[in-house]
Amino acid sequence: MSHVNATVAEEEYLQTIFWLKEAGLPMTAANVARAMQLSAPTVHEMIGRLERDGYVTRTEDKHLHFTEQGLDHAHGIVRRHRLIERFLTDVLGIPWDEVHEEAERLEHAMSPVLEERMLAAIGDAKTCPHGHPIEAGNRIDGVPLADVAEGASIQVLRFENEAEDLLHYLKDSGLEPGLRGEVVAGSDDQVSVRIDGAEVTVTRSVAETVAVLADPSPPTRTALPEQLVLARDRYGR
Ligand SMILES: [Zn+2]
Ligand SMILES: [Zn+2]
Repeated sequence: MSHVNATVAEEEYLQTIFWLKEAGLPMTAANVARAMQLSAPTVHEMIGRLERDGYVTRTEDKHLHFTEQGLDHAHGIVRRHRLIERFLTDVLGIPWDEVHEEAERLEHAMSPVLEERMLAAIGDAKTCPHGHPIEAGNRIDGVPLADVAEGASIQVLRFENEAEDLLHYLKDSGLEPGLRGEVVAGSDDQVSVRIDGAEVTVTRSVAETVAVLADPSPPTRTALPEQLVLARDRYGR
């Protein structure tokens, strides 16, 4: 583990690239720029740095690939991020729509000892409060809620985009990872789910970012990067 050498900025990029990989989106500078809401030259320069420092390589077709060191490092940051979020909700009692930015700040400054203590403190929890596996690789495939047909039963798996303004919206709507319900008639620009007799409605673009298990299930597909950029500031991982 050489993460002591990576800068906070490098870690933010590694996290974003990992996030693209996990979501099945092409790992390209263009998608990184879109995800982080940064200009192409800024991203180009930083990716050059990640390449020089041995975290990523670039192929002819402009795709990014992690080196072993890069993947290791990215894994570590993502794990710490999700662990911190779970700790903040379950141990400190902070609402789940208020922990992402805190985790963004804390994840870069955490010692292995603290990480071990936090892991012990969260007990059996296997995901962050938004449904992302703390040990990346244990991700369950889902489908976007937006694709699910009326009448299908669903279980909310995770919120793919963790931008805090989006999380506030989801929290207000009443959707939460783990909840089960049934898709009811929606309109062109909204999707409604009946959960415990109450109807929960979100916009169709937000429903694109909610991964669910559905029965019957629509075919799986990769999220559309354009539709995932709903945050005021940037893509929340
Ligand atoms: Zn987060
Ligand atoms: Zn999370």
